[in-house]
Amino acid sequence: MLACRDVSELMTDYMERRLGARRWIGVSWHLRLCPMCRAFLEQLRATRAVLAGLALPADAPAEARALAQRPPAGEPPSDLRSH
Ligand SMILES: [Zn+2]
Repeated sequence: MLACRDVSELMTDYMERRLGARRWIGVSWHLRLCPMCRAFLEQLRATRAVLAGLALPADAPAEARALAQRPPAGEPPSDLRSH
């Protein structure tokens, strides 16, 4: 089984579905069994959602929602505001 450190290194590729089948299965099994890595994955997802300017899911960690509610530093580019 993969160690947490290995999983954290593969997490971005896992989210972007860039892993081969074997590694993907290894990571997804680890995530099933390891609450710490699941929390880490949720954090990564939430961070990306914030960066992408998307609404956070209702079950996003409170920390991530707090971050999302913080007003951005400076004006967003106009192409972001039109959405
Ligand atoms: Zn783990």
